[in-house]
Order: sequence, then structure tokens, then C-alpha cells
Amino acid sequence: MTSSIQKNLASKNAEYASKFTKGNLALPPAKHYLILTCMDARIDPAAAFGIDLGDAHVIRNAGGSARDALRSIIISQQLLGTKEIVLIKHTGCGMLTFSNDDAHSLVKKNLGPSAAAEIATLDFLPFTNLDNAIKGDVDYLKRSAAVPGDVVISGWAYEVQTGTARQIV
Ligand SMILES: [Zn+2]
Repeated sequence: MTSSIQKNLASKNAEYASKFTKGNLALPPAKHYLILTCMDARIDPAAAFGIDLGDAHVIRNAGGSARDALRSIIISQQLLGTKEIVLIKHTGCGMLTFSNDDAHSLVKKNLGPSAAAEIATLDFLPFTNLDNAIKGDVDYLKRSAAVPGDVVISGWAYEVQTGTARQIV
């Protein structure tokens, strides 16, 4: 059975592909940077942050977590030559709304004891203050031995209500 999501994808993609002309871009990002941001559905990184196709890596996860993204950051830098990190968290983030205990309880309640046991040591990396979380993640990246010392790192807060990005560090 084809879901409405799949139908939408197929028809919109056919339209996109019929006009597509950028099939010859290089694999490494042309502007040698990566953006790390949240998976939040209200953020359109390409439009909001001025990223053209082929310019940058965009790494997304729940909360725009640097710890969660480290694997992708290392691949971006060591295999594909990016030299700058732009970290962007945002107002109204879901990660501000629960604790690790809440998430573990929810998994146990909804998915049962096997699931709870499987993710028993998982840190969901929630945070309680947006600016502090941005500073903490930038600090984590600056201290990480897996991120070269000459990499430029900045931290930003994006306001989902206004579309404005504010530099924090
Ligand atoms: Zn978020």
C-alpha cells in the first residue's frame, strides 16, 4: 500500500527532477563547513541559513546535539574536508520539555520491558536552558580531541517564532 506521504514524495520529486540541473556537484562541500541543527520540522536550514546545494553538510538530530552528532562531524571533517562548525539550537525545542527519567519511563510504558532494557544506558541529552546548552555544546566541541583545534566553531539560537538566528558564541 502506498501512503499519502509516499504519493506526495513521488509526485513532488518528479516535478523537482524534471527541472534539476545540478547533477555535477563535487562530493565535498564547496564552502567547507557543516551546520548542526535540530530535526525540528519548523526549521528550513537551506532557506533560513543561506545554504546552496553542495555548499555544506547539514547534520540534524533531536536538539542539535554535538555529542549525538560526533560520528557525522568526524566524517565531515576527516573524509570530506569541512573546517568550520555552525551549531544552531532553537527556541521551543522539544528537548526542553522532558528529562531522561521521563523518556525512559515513556519507553517502558509504551514499548515494554525489553525496549526499556535495550536503551537502559541511553542518554537522551535533554537540556533545560537554551543558551547554556549552546555554550555547553560549543565547549564540548572545542575540548574534543576528535575536533581539530583550528576548526572555527560558533553557536546560534534560532527563533522559530520569527525566523531570526542570534549568535550566542
Ligand atoms: Zn529542537
